[in-house]
Formats: sequence, C-alpha cells, structure tokens
Amino acid sequence: MSEASQLIEVRDLVVRFPIRDHGKRTVIQPVDHVSFGIRPGEVLALVGESGSGKSTIARTLLRIVTPSAGSILFDGQDVTRVKGRALAQYRRNVQMVFQDPFSSLNPARTIEAHLSYPLRKHHRLRGKELGDRIDELLERVGLTPTKDIRLKYPHELSGGQRQRVAIARALAVSPRFLVADEPISMLDVSIRAGVLKLMDDLRAAFNLAYLYITHDLASARYFGDRIMVLYGGRVMETAPSDDLIRNPSHPYTRLLLAATP
Ligand code: ADP
Ligand code: MG
Repeated sequence: MSEASQLIEVRDLVVRFPIRDHGKRTVIQPVDHVSFGIRPGEVLALVGESGSGKSTIARTLLRIVTPSAGSILFDGQDVTRVKGRALAQYRRNVQMVFQDPFSSLNPARTIEAHLSYPLRKHHRLRGKELGDRIDELLERVGLTPTKDIRLKYPHELSGGQRQRVAIARALAVSPRFLVADEPISMLDVSIRAGVLKLMDDLRAAFNLAYLYITHDLASARYFGDRIMVLYGGRVMETAPSDDLIRNPSHPYTRLLLAATP
C-alpha cells in the first residue's frame, strides 16, 4: 500500500497531559505511539475499553488536542501543528460526530440554523439555493424536510433524529473524513442499526472515510473494513474486520472477543 493512497496517516502519535496526583505534578500518556492510516472511503473501527485513549485520539485528529509527539498527515500534508488558515482548511475536511448528539448541537438554535450556518460560511449559499441544500441534507440523513422539522430545536427531536441532524451538520461542509466517537452508544438499541446504516450509505455516496470509535465489536465488524484494538493507549493489533474476529492474534483481542456476547 503506497503512502499516497492514504487520506489520513498518523505516525507514532503520543499525547501527554500534565496532571496533579495527590498534589504532585506528574504526566499521563493516554496515547502511546499510535500509528495508522485510512484510505478515502475506508472505515477504520477503533475498539478498546473505557479509558484506553479512544476519545483522546479522536480529539487529537480534530486538532482540539495538540500531539506531544508524532505526526498527522492529511492528503499528504503535515497538519500536526498547523495554525490559522491551514488549520481552518484542515477542519473543513475533518468533522466529528459525538456520542451525545447534544454535544454537536446548540440548544438555542433551530435545525435550519444549524445547517444554514456552515452552508453560508463554507459554501456561501444564500436564498433559494440555501433552502434547497438544507432540504437535500435533511433528506440525505433520512429526515423529511418539512417546515415542522426545520423550525424545531434539538430538544424537540428524538435521540435518533438528533444524531441524524448532527451528522447532517457535519456533512454540510462536505468533509472527506468523519471521526465518529461512539455515535450510537447513547441511542435506543432499536434505532442504532438505522444510524449505522446511514453512515455506511454516506460512505458510499461521498467516498467518505471514517474513524469509527466503539466498544462494541459487532458494530465494528459490520461497519469497519478493518478493526484496530487499543489497550492502555497502545495499538494491540489492526486487521481486516473478519480476520480479526475469526482469528485474533493478540491475547487482549481474544479476551475482548470472549467478553462479547
Ligand atoms: P476512552 O475514550 O477510550 O474512554 P479517553 O481518551 O477519554 O478514553 O481517556 C484516556 C485517559 O486520558 C483517561 O485516563 C482520561 O482520564 C485521560 N484524559 C483525557 N483527557 C484528559 C485531559 N484533558 N487531561 C488529563 N487527562 C485526560
Ligand atoms: Mg471516549
């Protein structure tokens, strides 16, 4: 696999946080020399127990957290420490969907306002063109684009509808890469499959790449082309989903599989 075929490439990523432990200054390292690549349109599922560093990797990819060491390449460009305009441009290509859809949404803004803001700012749409694009986005995520839904506030929607709006908002800037941090784990079990299927449809429609974070191996297998297993901030193994499930090479993966119903 040539490096040029990667959309995102993470090399030897290290994240450290200074903390106080019993009043003493110390440092924790939740991400410990992590490397992976994701091709355009590919889904890499990241699994690991709570506290293993998954969300820290997500936030570092979004450049909400600055890496302590290592590098992040996007489309061949080093974005590890870029600032200003280069950072803004990178962030248009990389969007995040959170576990709690309220984290992506502003309680004081209507659904229409959530979608019109990025469309105005990044695509400079106005008037009818803007309205049409909002309806198209709502339809794209499986919501009927009625006036009723456009003028609702996030708390007036169901959990699944809210996550669909959060996904539509992420899509509004036409990203090439989505980081989805446990996007279905707070949803009712009955609607999880629908949201996962939507993300899978979007991958095909837009050649969208994903880092799909989950602690659920079944959904990792369904959605992920490959699965990467994280433990204590380190990558234990990465393999095509079916291979990893059928023939895990690391003892921790076998433990994880044995714990899965
Ligand atoms: P996961 O998403 O796999 O549950 P996290 O990435 O959220 O794991 O957390 C990994 C570890 O890093 C945890 O011990 C957490 O407390 C710690 N951590 C995360 N963010 C910070 C921060 N900003 N400051 C200090 N410690 C942090
Ligand atoms: Mg997390």
